[in-house]
Amino acid sequence: MSKPWILGLTGGIGSGKTAVAQHFIDLGVHLVDADHAARWVVEPGRPALDRIAEHFGQEVLLPDGQLDRAALRGRIFQNPEERRWLEGLLHPLIGQEILAHLGRAESPYAILVSPLLVESGQHRLAQRVLVVDAPEHLQLARTIQRDHVTEEQVHAILQVQAKREERLRHADDVIVNDRDLSWLKAEVERLHHFYLTLRGGQP
Ligand code: ATP
Repeated sequence: MSKPWILGLTGGIGSGKTAVAQHFIDLGVHLVDADHAARWVVEPGRPALDRIAEHFGQEVLLPDGQLDRAALRGRIFQNPEERRWLEGLLHPLIGQEILAHLGRAESPYAILVSPLLVESGQHRLAQRVLVVDAPEHLQLARTIQRDHVTEEQVHAILQVQAKREERLRHADDVIVNDRDLSWLKAEVERLHHFYLTLRGGQP
């Protein structure tokens, strides 16, 4: 079987990425979440964690040997040089981890889901990009209902994410998620059947 091509899946907070991702999984498509890959590469026993502890000291480790994320965040907060060092170490490793997992797919294409697909440059790992887009008032309402957070907290996250236009600029396909969940599911099925006709992500 030839290597699966990679579909990058992204969207802003509360846009419906997870709901879309779950429908693709139900259709048998192999999927990796970039946030999970970012956690796997710093698990105890992985080389990245030793490098981080050498660089920042043992105080970025918890007593059980796991990475102390809060301590590490404290060390790179307002320290662009240290942040760059960390990103230089982790970004290539996360990319390799993602490709290794997606390479195991038995489906004709595999999905990389990442909230920061465009911001992190991970869209370059994908042959095609699907953006889930929703009007901001729906992003706000759905996130507030799901996470029981305030409107201000959602606005703060919207600020650090790419602007809608920037994300859409990288999109090959867009789902405008402004209808109900059964419509969303039907859209995913329609795209899935289209994707099965593609070779290497292109018509
Ligand atoms: P985040 O990046 O914040 O994790 P997300 O893009 O993964 O968000 P989801 O968790 O899929 O977004 O969707 C946000 C919430 O809105 C969820 O509770 C989900 O069930 C709901 N939701 C998504 N799409 C619809 C829809 N079309 N109709 C109704 N509710 C929806």
